[in-house]
Amino acid sequence: MSRAGEAGPAAAITRAGLAMFYDRLTEAHGPQHWWPHQDAAHPRFEIFIGAVLTQHTAWTNVERAIATLLEAGPLTAEALLANDDLAGCIRQAGPHRVKAERLRALCRWFVEAGGFEALDTWSTADLCTALRDVRGIGPETADVIALYAFDRPRFVADAYAFRILERYGWWTGRTRRYETLRLRVEDQAPAGWRAADYDETHALIVEHAKRVCHKRRPACDDCVLLTGCAQHGL
Ligand code: SF4
Repeated sequence: MSRAGEAGPAAAITRAGLAMFYDRLTEAHGPQHWWPHQDAAHPRFEIFIGAVLTQHTAWTNVERAIATLLEAGPLTAEALLANDDLAGCIRQAGPHRVKAERLRALCRWFVEAGGFEALDTWSTADLCTALRDVRGIGPETADVIALYAFDRPRFVADAYAFRILERYGWWTGRTRRYETLRLRVEDQAPAGWRAADYDETHALIVEHAKRVCHKRRPACDDCVLLTGCAQHGL
């Protein structure tokens, strides 16, 4: 049995394997019903905000910050750009000044691009590339926005995905390459997978990482992925 972080050949991700992985996580955790909203009138733009605020902070802090933002006005790009105390409103969500600048940059890009009416006509590749070009928006945040706000089929290769897929044997090596893992998974997506399936896969991976495949001392005896996991019992 190899240890996490050691270089070595990764087991190939296959369509059948990925389908089984998904089915087992669904069986364990049930439907996840992401994305949670607070502003029913602007659920899509709320995803933009949540995707930026969740960088390096717990979701409970994001929820508090979004609630404060909502008291100040609707969750729209225009309202955020007009908010003179944007950083103060999101204080609960970590480095608030940096995140306020990132939000402002994202809002400006969104408005200049023509909002949802225009962006809905863009190809997924163009949308993700343009999002990544916005200051402070990395590949993971861009893909989360593309997936949840635009229903585009993207696999979010975040730290939780790397943790579980490394242990499972589907990723190896010391360097985590976001784009490589994303493409490997998408290349082997089961037939008929749509954005809703990627949406659920990401949510299930996060849930499994938090509840079972912990960073330290994963609860392998309670894990539905135990059969077939290359590194259980770390
Ligand atoms: S068997 Fe253990 S290491 Fe493997 S995915 Fe499950 S909890 Fe993680």
